Amino acid sequence: MDQAALATGTPKGPWGSVAPAAPACSLTEVMSEQLARQLDEENNLLPSLSDPAADLLSEEVPDTASDLMLAQMLQLQFDRECDDQLRREERKFNGDSKVSISFENYRMVHPYEDSDSSEDEVDWQDTRHDPYKAEKPQATPRKGFTGKGKNITTKHDEETCGRKNTARMDNFAPEVLVGDGLGMDLKLSNQVFNSLKQHCYSEQRRSARLHEKKEHSTAEQAVDPRTRLLMYKMVNAGVLENINGCISTGKESVVFHADGGSLEEQPVPDEVVLKVFKTTLNEFKNRDRYIKDDYRFKDRFSKLNPRKIIRLWAEKEMHNLSRMKRAEIPCPEVVLLKKHILVMSFIGKDHVPAPKLKDAMLDSDDMKAAYCQVLHIMQQMYRECHLVHADLSEYNMLWHQGKVWLIDVSQSVEPTHPHGLEFLFRDCRNVSTFFQKRGVTEALGVYDLFNAVSGLNIPVGAEDEFMAQIVALEKRNEDHVQRRGKKSFPASLEDGGPPLKPDADD
Ligand code: ADP
Ligand code: MG
Repeated sequence: MDQAALATGTPKGPWGSVAPAAPACSLTEVMSEQLARQLDEENNLLPSLSDPAADLLSEEVPDTASDLMLAQMLQLQFDRECDDQLRREERKFNGDSKVSISFENYRMVHPYEDSDSSEDEVDWQDTRHDPYKAEKPQATPRKGFTGKGKNITTKHDEETCGRKNTARMDNFAPEVLVGDGLGMDLKLSNQVFNSLKQHCYSEQRRSARLHEKKEHSTAEQAVDPRTRLLMYKMVNAGVLENINGCISTGKESVVFHADGGSLEEQPVPDEVVLKVFKTTLNEFKNRDRYIKDDYRFKDRFSKLNPRKIIRLWAEKEMHNLSRMKRAEIPCPEVVLLKKHILVMSFIGKDHVPAPKLKDAMLDSDDMKAAYCQVLHIMQQMYRECHLVHADLSEYNMLWHQGKVWLIDVSQSVEPTHPHGLEFLFRDCRNVSTFFQKRGVTEALGVYDLFNAVSGLNIPVGAEDEFMAQIVALEKRNEDHVQRRGKKSFPASLEDGGPPLKPDADD
């Protein structure tokens, strides 16, 4: 390359000099230039459409530049219309009635809007006094009345009480919407107030219970992790093949269907149920009297914590079922007891539980046969097992293979229980009412049934007298037991106490 060519920067080829290249230009620049030109043209084509809109947006209504402001303004307009509508409804609702109801609380209150319906223009948020809130009623002085002579108003005055009750609604839980009772000068009678209060408390308790249930239970309902572990162990040990599903969830227990496995010492039926006594709920508290006065369990009861007491229920059901089985009363057969879970034979077939007597569709012959059988079972239970079912009804009797089967005997007690005869009377009432309603003409009335089961010949007369006799007998029996000592009927002594005779003690 020669010197001249180098100095000018122009390469000199062997065929002559090359013309200088045009300055480089990027693709982006080309594109943006094109776009600008295109937009310009479009603008020129549509001048009448774009201009006024731009003016409107940018100059004449500067507020609307902000989306938030725009939304607020629209909301305001909407609320105004709502308020107008409310006002019209309020006028229509009240008409010219003397008592009027205000819809003020439903109106929208906007922080920056001047209310056009309210007369007080105070910004009450900043004052101690809230004009929308009515004064609380004045408390009655300690002496219990105000005024003098004829004008005395006592604290029991209906109006004063009513207003006070309305004010006391303020104390209900925050989630209870009590409205503006004071503003309306509402006077709640004691009766209404008390039932509202009761309702609020029970709602609170219910929601607490739901919460508790959620925490302690699983999808299988009220089966806490300990129980699940126990159930799992039973399957693991081969006692059960499978736990299939829940048959029933009652207040005190959950019943599951399971396929039986095998146990070393005894055969396990193909189909079994697991009755899981609930450990989380306190319903058992109500039933303490069935167990703490039962001589078989009395001594142990006082020493146990609530969880263990629930195990006693399962144990009690097991003992009672065993006694009944020995007397050949149709009832589930006990397979296994593990803490608060009782495994027993399934009354039913192919996963379908036998219907309760209340649901069973029996013809009149079967119904009559069922009655005769129930009478016989009650007598057997009383005389041979020394037991009173204590929750006998069409709900705890199943109809299976053409006969009645008795279940749910965890609360069954001996006739010598301090309330045993009252429980028997209640059972008799349930049985008698059920069969009489189902058209069994042979069904004995409650008094005759009681005598037929117990062998006590209490004169049949007015219910009061009959009950008085029953209670007197229970008292006499209790004294008798006390004299013989509390431990006369230990749990292991399966044949329990002597059958009651009216004059046994005389
Ligand atoms: P609860 O104390 O909750 O009433 P139950 O012993 O009465 O407990 O059982 C509740 C329900 O479970 C019964 O009404 C019945 O339908 C079913 N059940 C209980 N035990 C058996 C069983 N051995 N075989 C078939 N179903 C049963
Ligand atoms: Mg039951």
